[in-house]
Amino acid sequence: MKSKTTLKKPSNSKKGYLKPFAILFLMLLSNPFVFSQTIVERGGRLQVNGSHVTTENGQKISLAGNSMFWSNAGESEPFYNAQTVNHLTDDWNSTIIRPALGVKESWDGGNNYIQNRAAQTAKIKRVIDAAIAKGIYVIIDWHTHKAENYVNEAVGFFSEMAKTYGEYDNVIYEIYNEPLLSTPWNTVKNYARPVIAAIRANDPDNLIVVGTRTWCQEVEEAADNPINGDPNLAYALHYYANTHGQWLIDRTKRAMQKGAAVFVTEYGTTDASGNGGFNPQESRRWFNFLIENNISYVNWNISDKNEDSSVISAGRGLQGLLDGNLTASGNFVRDHMRSRDYDDITLSTNAVTIDGASVSVFPNPTQGELFIDAPNVTVETVSMYDITGRLVLSTRPEKTDKQIKINLGELSSGNYILKLESPQNSIARKVIKL
Ligand code: MG
Repeated sequence: MKSKTTLKKPSNSKKGYLKPFAILFLMLLSNPFVFSQTIVERGGRLQVNGSHVTTENGQKISLAGNSMFWSNAGESEPFYNAQTVNHLTDDWNSTIIRPALGVKESWDGGNNYIQNRAAQTAKIKRVIDAAIAKGIYVIIDWHTHKAENYVNEAVGFFSEMAKTYGEYDNVIYEIYNEPLLSTPWNTVKNYARPVIAAIRANDPDNLIVVGTRTWCQEVEEAADNPINGDPNLAYALHYYANTHGQWLIDRTKRAMQKGAAVFVTEYGTTDASGNGGFNPQESRRWFNFLIENNISYVNWNISDKNEDSSVISAGRGLQGLLDGNLTASGNFVRDHMRSRDYDDITLSTNAVTIDGASVSVFPNPTQGELFIDAPNVTVETVSMYDITGRLVLSTRPEKTDKQIKINLGELSSGNYILKLESPQNSIARKVIKL
Protein backbone atom coordinates (compact mmCIF):
# COMPACT_ATOMS: atom_id res chain seq x y z
CA MET A 1 0.00 0.00 0.00
CA LYS A 2 1.78 3.08 -1.18
CA SER A 3 -1.09 5.44 -1.84
CA LYS A 4 -0.47 9.05 -1.14
CA THR A 5 -3.43 10.56 0.61
CA THR A 6 -3.96 14.25 0.90
CA LEU A 7 -6.58 15.58 3.22
CA LYS A 8 -7.82 18.87 1.95
CA LYS A 9 -8.79 21.53 4.35
CA PRO A 10 -12.29 22.77 3.60
CA SER A 11 -12.04 25.96 1.60
CA ASN A 12 -14.41 28.29 -0.12
CA SER A 13 -12.51 27.92 -3.35
CA LYS A 14 -14.52 26.53 -6.24
CA LYS A 15 -11.53 24.48 -7.25
CA GLY A 16 -12.96 21.47 -5.48
CA TYR A 17 -16.14 21.35 -7.52
CA LEU A 18 -16.21 19.00 -10.44
CA LYS A 19 -19.11 19.96 -12.61
CA PRO A 20 -20.05 16.54 -14.00
CA PHE A 21 -19.78 15.08 -10.57
CA ALA A 22 -21.91 17.83 -9.07
CA ILE A 23 -24.68 16.73 -11.39
CA LEU A 24 -24.18 13.10 -10.41
CA PHE A 25 -24.20 14.17 -6.79
CA LEU A 26 -27.54 15.88 -7.19
CA MET A 27 -28.90 12.78 -8.87
CA LEU A 28 -27.70 10.71 -5.94
CA LEU A 29 -29.30 13.11 -3.50
CA SER A 30 -32.62 12.64 -5.18
CA ASN A 31 -32.31 8.86 -5.10
CA PRO A 32 -33.24 7.48 -1.70
CA PHE A 33 -31.87 4.03 -2.56
CA VAL A 34 -28.36 5.41 -2.67
CA PHE A 35 -28.55 7.29 0.59
CA SER A 36 -30.58 5.09 2.88
CA GLN A 37 -29.43 1.52 2.87
CA THR A 38 -32.02 -0.84 4.28
CA ILE A 39 -31.35 -2.84 7.40
CA VAL A 40 -30.90 -5.98 5.29
CA GLU A 41 -28.42 -4.29 2.96
CA ARG A 42 -26.44 -3.39 6.03
CA GLY A 43 -26.85 -6.53 8.09
CA GLY A 44 -26.86 -9.07 5.29
CA ARG A 45 -27.72 -12.69 6.02
CA LEU A 46 -28.01 -13.23 9.77
CA GLN A 47 -25.54 -15.68 11.18
CA VAL A 48 -25.13 -17.49 14.49
CA ASN A 49 -21.74 -16.72 16.02
CA GLY A 50 -21.35 -18.42 19.38
CA SER A 51 -24.30 -17.42 21.53
CA HIS A 52 -25.33 -14.48 19.34
CA VAL A 53 -27.18 -13.95 16.13
CA THR A 54 -24.99 -11.49 14.25
CA THR A 55 -24.94 -9.69 10.95
CA GLU A 56 -23.30 -11.41 8.01
CA ASN A 57 -19.94 -9.89 8.87
CA GLY A 58 -20.17 -10.93 12.51
CA GLN A 59 -21.43 -7.78 14.16
CA LYS A 60 -23.79 -8.34 17.09
CA ILE A 61 -27.25 -7.00 16.41
CA SER A 62 -30.53 -6.56 18.26
CA LEU A 63 -33.43 -6.08 15.87
CA ALA A 64 -36.82 -4.87 17.08
CA GLY A 65 -39.96 -5.59 15.12
CA ASN A 66 -43.52 -6.87 14.97
CA SER A 67 -45.30 -10.18 14.85
CA MET A 68 -48.57 -10.45 13.02
CA PHE A 69 -51.56 -12.30 14.46
CA TRP A 70 -52.50 -15.87 13.51
CA SER A 71 -53.03 -15.97 9.73
CA ASN A 72 -55.90 -18.42 10.25
CA ALA A 73 -57.80 -15.87 12.38
CA GLY A 74 -60.17 -13.31 10.93
CA GLU A 75 -58.62 -10.54 13.02
CA SER A 76 -55.38 -10.82 11.03
CA GLU A 77 -57.08 -10.26 7.67
CA PRO A 78 -56.66 -6.46 7.32
CA PHE A 79 -52.94 -6.56 8.05
CA TYR A 80 -51.30 -9.22 5.85
CA ASN A 81 -50.24 -6.78 3.16
CA ALA A 82 -47.56 -4.37 1.98
CA GLN A 83 -49.28 -1.32 3.47
CA THR A 84 -48.83 -2.76 6.95
CA VAL A 85 -45.21 -3.75 6.33
CA ASN A 86 -44.33 -0.38 4.79
CA HIS A 87 -45.99 1.57 7.57
CA LEU A 88 -44.30 -0.42 10.33
CA THR A 89 -40.93 0.06 8.63
CA ASP A 90 -41.31 3.76 7.91
CA ASP A 91 -43.28 4.93 10.94
CA TRP A 92 -42.38 2.42 13.65
CA ASN A 93 -38.74 1.91 12.63
CA SER A 94 -39.50 -1.81 12.55
CA THR A 95 -36.64 -3.89 11.17
CA ILE A 96 -38.28 -7.31 11.25
CA ILE A 97 -41.76 -8.70 10.65
CA ARG A 98 -43.17 -12.09 11.53
CA PRO A 99 -46.12 -13.42 9.59
CA ALA A 100 -47.62 -16.21 11.73
CA LEU A 101 -48.82 -19.04 9.50
CA GLY A 102 -51.74 -20.66 11.30
CA VAL A 103 -51.17 -24.39 10.78
CA LYS A 104 -54.42 -25.77 12.23
CA GLU A 105 -56.52 -24.81 15.24
CA SER A 106 -59.88 -26.02 16.51
CA TRP A 107 -61.30 -22.50 16.30
CA ASP A 108 -60.32 -21.58 12.75
CA GLY A 109 -63.22 -23.17 10.85
CA GLY A 110 -60.89 -24.81 8.34
CA ASN A 111 -59.22 -21.54 7.43
CA ASN A 112 -55.71 -22.89 8.05
CA TYR A 113 -52.67 -24.11 6.17
CA ILE A 114 -53.51 -27.82 6.45
CA GLN A 115 -57.03 -27.43 5.01
CA ASN A 116 -56.60 -24.35 2.86
CA ARG A 117 -53.04 -24.44 1.66
CA ALA A 118 -53.23 -22.17 -1.38
CA ALA A 119 -55.00 -19.30 0.35
CA GLN A 120 -52.79 -19.42 3.43
CA THR A 121 -49.61 -19.64 1.36
CA ALA A 122 -50.70 -16.66 -0.73
CA LYS A 123 -51.49 -14.72 2.42
CA ILE A 124 -48.14 -15.30 4.06
CA LYS A 125 -46.29 -14.63 0.80
CA ARG A 126 -47.84 -11.17 0.59
CA VAL A 127 -46.01 -10.26 3.77
CA ILE A 128 -42.75 -11.98 2.84
CA ASP A 129 -42.68 -10.27 -0.57
CA ALA A 130 -43.46 -6.90 1.01
CA ALA A 131 -40.68 -7.33 3.59
CA ILE A 132 -38.17 -8.19 0.87
CA ALA A 133 -39.26 -5.22 -1.22
CA LYS A 134 -38.95 -2.95 1.81
CA GLY A 135 -35.59 -4.33 2.90
CA ILE A 136 -36.50 -5.61 6.38
CA TYR A 137 -36.08 -9.08 7.86
CA VAL A 138 -38.97 -11.51 7.83
CA ILE A 139 -39.55 -14.54 10.05
CA ILE A 140 -41.57 -17.27 8.36
CA ASP A 141 -43.32 -18.70 11.40
CA TRP A 142 -44.96 -22.15 11.48
CA HIS A 143 -47.49 -21.09 14.07
CA THR A 144 -48.72 -24.07 16.05
CA HIS A 145 -48.34 -25.73 19.44
CA LYS A 146 -48.36 -29.21 17.90
CA ALA A 147 -45.91 -29.10 15.00
CA GLU A 148 -44.90 -32.73 15.55
CA ASN A 149 -48.34 -33.69 14.22
CA TYR A 150 -47.54 -32.07 10.86
CA VAL A 151 -43.99 -33.13 9.99
CA ASN A 152 -44.70 -33.91 6.33
CA GLU A 153 -46.63 -30.69 5.85
CA ALA A 154 -43.83 -28.69 7.47
CA VAL A 155 -41.24 -30.39 5.24
CA GLY A 156 -43.31 -29.51 2.17
CA PHE A 157 -43.97 -25.95 3.26
CA PHE A 158 -40.41 -25.10 4.26
CA SER A 159 -39.01 -26.77 1.12
CA GLU A 160 -41.17 -24.43 -0.92
CA MET A 161 -40.22 -21.38 1.16
CA ALA A 162 -36.49 -22.20 0.99
CA LYS A 163 -36.70 -22.76 -2.76
CA THR A 164 -38.55 -19.49 -3.29
CA TYR A 165 -36.81 -17.28 -0.75
CA GLY A 166 -33.50 -18.94 0.19
CA GLU A 167 -31.54 -16.46 -1.89
CA TYR A 168 -32.87 -13.51 0.08
CA ASP A 169 -30.91 -12.37 3.11
CA ASN A 170 -34.19 -11.08 4.57
CA VAL A 171 -35.56 -14.51 5.37
CA ILE A 172 -35.53 -16.42 8.68
CA TYR A 173 -37.29 -19.75 9.14
CA GLU A 174 -39.06 -20.36 12.47
CA ILE A 175 -40.05 -23.99 12.18
CA TYR A 176 -41.98 -24.48 15.44
CA ASN A 177 -43.73 -21.62 17.17
CA GLU A 178 -44.36 -22.92 20.68
CA PRO A 179 -44.00 -26.50 21.85
CA LEU A 180 -46.16 -27.14 24.92
CA LEU A 181 -45.04 -27.78 28.48
CA SER A 182 -45.97 -31.43 28.02
CA THR A 183 -44.06 -31.94 24.77
CA PRO A 184 -40.69 -33.60 25.42
CA TRP A 185 -37.69 -31.73 24.00
CA ASN A 186 -36.68 -34.89 22.14
CA THR A 187 -40.02 -34.79 20.31
CA VAL A 188 -39.20 -31.25 19.18
CA LYS A 189 -35.72 -32.35 18.10
CA ASN A 190 -37.10 -35.29 16.15
CA TYR A 191 -39.56 -32.98 14.40
CA ALA A 192 -36.88 -30.39 13.68
CA ARG A 193 -34.34 -32.67 11.97
CA PRO A 194 -36.25 -33.45 8.75
CA VAL A 195 -37.59 -29.89 8.53
CA ILE A 196 -34.09 -28.44 8.85
CA ALA A 197 -32.86 -30.95 6.25
CA ALA A 198 -35.63 -29.87 3.86
CA ILE A 199 -34.63 -26.23 4.25
CA ARG A 200 -30.93 -26.94 3.85
CA ALA A 201 -31.54 -28.94 0.66
CA ASN A 202 -32.74 -25.69 -0.88
CA ASP A 203 -31.09 -22.98 1.19
CA PRO A 204 -27.74 -23.76 2.76
CA ASP A 205 -27.35 -20.73 4.91
CA ASN A 206 -30.27 -18.61 6.16
CA LEU A 207 -31.03 -18.52 9.87
CA ILE A 208 -33.34 -21.18 11.33
CA VAL A 209 -35.04 -20.70 14.70
CA VAL A 210 -36.48 -23.61 16.69
CA GLY A 211 -39.05 -23.16 19.44
CA THR A 212 -38.28 -24.47 22.89
CA ARG A 213 -40.55 -26.33 25.29
CA THR A 214 -43.14 -24.67 27.55
CA TRP A 215 -44.18 -21.99 25.03
CA CYS A 216 -40.51 -21.15 24.39
CA GLN A 217 -39.31 -20.69 27.92
CA GLU A 218 -36.95 -23.68 28.08
CA VAL A 219 -33.98 -22.16 26.29
CA GLU A 220 -31.58 -23.57 28.88
CA GLU A 221 -32.83 -27.10 28.22
CA ALA A 222 -32.07 -26.53 24.53
CA ALA A 223 -28.60 -25.21 25.40
CA ASP A 224 -27.95 -28.34 27.49
CA ASN A 225 -29.16 -30.64 24.73
CA PRO A 226 -28.80 -28.77 21.44
CA ILE A 227 -29.78 -29.74 17.94
CA ASN A 228 -26.39 -30.50 16.45
CA GLY A 229 -25.15 -30.33 12.91
CA ASP A 230 -26.27 -26.94 11.68
CA PRO A 231 -24.13 -23.85 12.18
CA ASN A 232 -26.95 -21.39 11.70
CA LEU A 233 -29.52 -22.38 14.27
CA ALA A 234 -30.96 -20.29 17.11
CA TYR A 235 -33.54 -21.08 19.79
CA ALA A 236 -36.74 -19.17 20.42
CA LEU A 237 -37.45 -17.46 23.70
CA HIS A 238 -40.95 -16.07 24.24
CA TYR A 239 -41.76 -13.88 27.20
CA TYR A 240 -44.75 -11.88 28.41
CA ALA A 241 -43.54 -9.06 30.63
CA ASN A 242 -46.43 -9.24 33.11
CA THR A 243 -45.96 -13.00 33.58
CA HIS A 244 -42.27 -13.75 33.11
CA GLY A 245 -39.87 -11.91 35.37
CA GLN A 246 -36.22 -11.89 36.32
CA TRP A 247 -36.10 -15.68 36.62
CA LEU A 248 -36.57 -16.02 32.86
CA ILE A 249 -33.95 -13.36 32.17
CA ASP A 250 -31.55 -15.31 34.42
CA ARG A 251 -32.38 -18.54 32.61
CA THR A 252 -31.73 -16.87 29.26
CA LYS A 253 -28.34 -15.65 30.47
CA ARG A 254 -27.44 -19.19 31.51
CA ALA A 255 -28.53 -20.56 28.13
CA MET A 256 -26.29 -18.03 26.40
CA GLN A 257 -23.39 -18.86 28.71
CA LYS A 258 -23.85 -22.46 27.62
CA GLY A 259 -23.54 -21.39 24.00
CA ALA A 260 -27.12 -21.12 22.75
CA ALA A 261 -28.06 -18.25 20.45
CA VAL A 262 -31.44 -16.90 21.52
CA PHE A 263 -34.00 -15.09 19.39
CA VAL A 264 -37.17 -13.58 20.89
CA THR A 265 -39.53 -14.30 18.02
CA GLU A 266 -42.45 -13.25 20.23
CA TYR A 267 -42.89 -11.11 23.31
CA GLY A 268 -45.78 -9.30 24.91
CA THR A 269 -46.06 -6.35 27.25
CA THR A 270 -48.97 -8.15 28.97
CA ASP A 271 -49.81 -11.46 30.63
CA ALA A 272 -49.05 -14.59 28.67
CA SER A 273 -52.78 -14.71 27.90
CA GLY A 274 -52.44 -11.52 25.84
CA ASN A 275 -54.58 -9.71 28.39
CA GLY A 276 -54.09 -8.63 32.00
CA GLY A 277 -53.06 -5.08 31.21
CA PHE A 278 -49.70 -4.09 29.85
CA ASN A 279 -46.76 -3.64 32.15
CA PRO A 280 -44.40 -0.85 31.07
CA GLN A 281 -41.99 -1.27 34.00
CA GLU A 282 -41.33 -4.95 33.39
CA SER A 283 -41.29 -4.36 29.62
CA ARG A 284 -38.53 -1.79 30.04
CA ARG A 285 -36.51 -4.19 32.17
CA TRP A 286 -36.75 -6.75 29.34
CA PHE A 287 -35.89 -4.23 26.63
CA ASN A 288 -32.75 -3.20 28.53
CA PHE A 289 -31.70 -6.82 28.91
CA LEU A 290 -32.34 -7.62 25.23
CA ILE A 291 -30.47 -4.58 23.91
CA GLU A 292 -27.53 -5.04 26.29
CA ASN A 293 -27.22 -8.67 25.25
CA ASN A 294 -27.81 -8.14 21.53
CA ILE A 295 -30.93 -10.26 21.31
CA SER A 296 -33.59 -9.51 18.70
CA TYR A 297 -37.23 -9.20 19.82
CA VAL A 298 -40.54 -9.19 18.04
CA ASN A 299 -43.76 -7.85 19.55
CA TRP A 300 -47.02 -9.80 19.66
CA ASN A 301 -49.10 -8.56 17.88
CA ILE A 302 -50.35 -6.59 14.86
CA SER A 303 -54.12 -6.85 15.11
CA ASP A 304 -57.17 -4.94 16.24
CA LYS A 305 -58.60 -7.80 18.29
CA ASN A 306 -60.04 -6.56 21.58
CA GLU A 307 -57.05 -7.69 23.62
CA ASP A 308 -54.38 -5.82 25.59
CA SER A 309 -51.50 -7.21 23.51
CA SER A 310 -53.01 -5.98 20.23
CA VAL A 311 -51.37 -2.81 18.98
CA ILE A 312 -54.36 -1.37 17.11
CA SER A 313 -57.47 -0.15 18.92
CA ALA A 314 -60.32 -2.67 18.76
CA GLY A 315 -61.99 -2.91 15.39
CA ARG A 316 -60.06 -0.04 13.75
CA GLY A 317 -58.51 -2.19 11.03
CA LEU A 318 -55.69 -1.14 8.73
CA GLN A 319 -56.74 2.50 8.79
CA GLY A 320 -56.41 2.43 12.57
CA LEU A 321 -52.79 1.38 12.20
CA LEU A 322 -52.07 4.00 9.54
CA ASP A 323 -53.82 6.74 11.55
CA GLY A 324 -52.12 5.80 14.82
CA ASN A 325 -55.26 4.61 16.57
CA LEU A 326 -53.25 2.41 18.91
CA THR A 327 -53.76 0.69 22.23
CA ALA A 328 -51.72 1.65 25.30
CA SER A 329 -49.38 -1.23 24.55
CA GLY A 330 -49.24 -0.29 20.86
CA ASN A 331 -48.19 3.28 21.64
CA PHE A 332 -45.61 2.07 24.14
CA VAL A 333 -44.06 -0.43 21.75
CA ARG A 334 -44.06 2.06 18.87
CA ASP A 335 -42.33 4.69 21.02
CA HIS A 336 -39.73 2.16 22.06
CA MET A 337 -39.05 0.98 18.52
CA ARG A 338 -38.74 4.53 17.26
CA SER A 339 -36.09 5.14 19.92
CA ARG A 340 -33.90 2.35 18.54
CA ASP A 341 -31.21 3.23 16.06
CA TYR A 342 -29.10 1.00 13.92
CA ASP A 343 -26.51 3.53 12.80
CA ASP A 344 -23.67 1.42 14.12
CA ILE A 345 -24.57 -1.52 11.89
CA THR A 346 -21.86 -1.83 9.29
CA LEU A 347 -22.78 -2.23 5.67
CA SER A 348 -22.35 -5.87 4.76
CA THR A 349 -22.52 -5.32 1.02
CA ASN A 350 -19.68 -3.01 0.26
CA ALA A 351 -18.99 -4.30 -3.21
CA VAL A 352 -19.24 -1.87 -6.09
CA THR A 353 -18.51 -2.67 -9.70
CA ILE A 354 -16.22 -0.69 -11.99
CA ASP A 355 -15.43 -1.81 -15.52
CA GLY A 356 -17.06 -5.14 -14.71
CA ALA A 357 -14.73 -5.76 -11.77
CA SER A 358 -15.80 -5.94 -8.16
CA VAL A 359 -14.31 -3.44 -5.73
CA SER A 360 -14.86 -3.63 -1.97
CA VAL A 361 -15.09 -0.59 0.27
CA PHE A 362 -14.84 -1.30 4.01
CA PRO A 363 -15.43 -0.84 6.87
CA ASN A 364 -18.47 1.34 6.37
CA PRO A 365 -19.32 3.13 8.62
CA THR A 366 -15.73 3.80 9.61
CA GLN A 367 -14.00 5.41 12.55
CA GLY A 368 -11.18 6.59 10.26
CA GLU A 369 -9.42 4.07 8.05
CA LEU A 370 -11.21 3.08 4.87
CA PHE A 371 -9.94 0.30 2.62
CA ILE A 372 -10.66 -0.06 -1.07
CA ASP A 373 -9.86 -3.52 -2.40
CA ALA A 374 -9.55 -3.38 -6.17
CA PRO A 375 -7.76 -6.55 -7.30
CA ASN A 376 -8.92 -6.50 -10.92
CA VAL A 377 -9.24 -2.87 -11.90
CA THR A 378 -7.05 0.20 -11.80
CA VAL A 379 -8.49 2.94 -9.63
CA GLU A 380 -6.93 6.15 -10.90
CA THR A 381 -8.44 8.60 -8.45
CA VAL A 382 -10.21 8.37 -5.11
CA SER A 383 -12.20 11.42 -4.05
CA MET A 384 -14.39 12.17 -1.08
CA TYR A 385 -17.09 14.82 -1.00
CA ASP A 386 -19.10 16.09 1.91
CA ILE A 387 -22.86 16.38 1.88
CA THR A 388 -22.74 19.85 0.31
CA GLY A 389 -20.68 18.53 -2.60
CA ARG A 390 -17.38 19.97 -1.42
CA LEU A 391 -14.25 17.99 -2.17
CA VAL A 392 -12.63 17.10 1.15
CA LEU A 393 -10.10 14.48 0.11
CA SER A 394 -8.50 13.20 -3.04
CA THR A 395 -5.71 10.82 -3.86
CA ARG A 396 -4.17 9.14 -6.91
CA PRO A 397 -3.16 5.62 -5.94
CA GLU A 398 -0.17 3.90 -7.51
CA LYS A 399 -1.29 1.94 -10.57
CA THR A 400 -0.11 -1.27 -8.94
CA ASP A 401 -2.12 -0.79 -5.75
CA LYS A 402 -4.57 -3.63 -5.20
CA GLN A 403 -5.62 -2.29 -1.84
CA ILE A 404 -5.91 1.43 -1.26
CA LYS A 405 -6.10 2.81 2.25
CA ILE A 406 -7.38 6.27 3.00
CA ASN A 407 -7.70 7.92 6.36
CA LEU A 408 -10.82 9.87 7.21
CA GLY A 409 -9.69 10.51 10.77
CA GLU A 410 -9.67 14.27 10.38
CA LEU A 411 -13.15 14.49 8.88
CA SER A 412 -16.05 15.26 11.15
CA SER A 413 -18.76 12.65 11.66
CA GLY A 414 -21.40 12.42 8.96
CA ASN A 415 -22.22 11.18 5.50
CA TYR A 416 -19.79 11.50 2.61
CA ILE A 417 -19.71 10.46 -0.99
CA LEU A 418 -16.77 8.39 -2.14
CA LYS A 419 -15.98 8.61 -5.82
CA LEU A 420 -13.72 6.09 -7.54
CA GLU A 421 -12.49 6.66 -11.08
CA SER A 422 -11.05 4.05 -13.39
CA PRO A 423 -9.76 4.74 -16.91
CA GLN A 424 -13.25 3.99 -18.25
CA ASN A 425 -15.74 4.85 -15.57
CA SER A 426 -16.53 6.31 -12.24
CA ILE A 427 -18.81 5.21 -9.44
CA ALA A 428 -19.95 6.89 -6.27
CA ARG A 429 -21.20 5.51 -3.01
CA LYS A 430 -22.10 6.75 0.42
CA VAL A 431 -19.60 6.36 3.25
CA ILE A 432 -20.49 7.06 6.87
CA LYS A 433 -17.80 8.55 9.09
CA LEU A 434 -18.57 7.81 12.75
MG1 MG B 1 -29.69 -18.51 1.63
